[in-house]
Amino acid sequence: MEQVQEGEKYMNAQILDGKKTALKVREEIKDEVALFEQQNGKKVKLCVVIVGDNSASKVYVRNKRIACEKAGIESQIVELAVETSQSELISLIEKLNNDNSVNGILVQLPLPGHIDEDAIIEVINPEKDVDAFHPFNTGMLLSGNPAFEPCTPGGIIELLKYEGIETSGKHVVIIGRSNIVGKPLAALLLLKGSFGDATVTVCHSRTKNLKDITLMADILVAAIGRANFVSQDMIKDGAVVIDVGINRVDDPTLEKGYKLVGDVNYEEALTKASFITPVPGGVGPMTIAILLRNALTAAKRQLK
Ligand code: NAD
Repeated sequence: MEQVQEGEKYMNAQILDGKKTALKVREEIKDEVALFEQQNGKKVKLCVVIVGDNSASKVYVRNKRIACEKAGIESQIVELAVETSQSELISLIEKLNNDNSVNGILVQLPLPGHIDEDAIIEVINPEKDVDAFHPFNTGMLLSGNPAFEPCTPGGIIELLKYEGIETSGKHVVIIGRSNIVGKPLAALLLLKGSFGDATVTVCHSRTKNLKDITLMADILVAAIGRANFVSQDMIKDGAVVIDVGINRVDDPTLEKGYKLVGDVNYEEALTKASFITPVPGGVGPMTIAILLRNALTAAKRQLK
């Protein structure tokens, strides 16, 4: 029998296809949205507010609009000029809070520097906070009763569920402690029950001996925002690797002049991981699927 060399065992890590799984989740949501409409004579509606001209944000908002359309969710996109003041934005959100036809409100981040993001998030009615960023919702999550799933972390858990990759008792190492990914993902993984119950370590820019920690991960999540940061020697043989990063790197061979890569060196990780998410086509599509689900959840709750 041919001997398998250390490091070659997982030469062909299985790809966790977020695009395919997200489509399945979106089909389920579409059916539920149709049922909601039929039973209640009311559409599910999401309002997305974008301030300024950030090109990546514009792509994200467009993708959200298309995803809403496909799921039968009505979407309203409010595009505001970069010089919009904080108080103008707050007034708009208050109006949307009071508009009974709007079930979910999402303010696309980042906002221009003169606007305090925390102040804006705090104005959104927690019942319409489909991003789950409001302190009320982050508190609910930490206390073990999430009202909404944070979208990107929820998407990661959903992807693991679909692939039957249990987290119970596993050591999950998350690199990145942002409010959008790292912290809420840690909170989800600590929830009691299936696809929770993990032992979680959260690393960040001040973490010492990062590699020693990542090498202990059964599931390694990279949410850093630095292209190809996680190299082969940071991954335990057979680990599940979840790459959240979306980084633009120059590529003059392409018409647009850049390509998207993750925080993990994908080619290297393929030789060590048992499963890996690609970029693009991994976590990103799942994030949008959970957003749609949150809009539906909001609409259902607002009926009561
Ligand atoms: P962020 O900038 O808010 O946080 C980055 C984190 O990485 C910080 O906690 C920081 O401490 C940590 N970090 C930075 N340098 C480090 C180092 N050398 N060693 C260890 N830790 C380090 O970023 P974010 O909003 O969490 O986003 C992270 C990445 O994920 C970005 O590329 C972003 O575009 C991407 N993202 C993707 C999705 C998606 O749907 N796929 C959603 C959100 C964010």
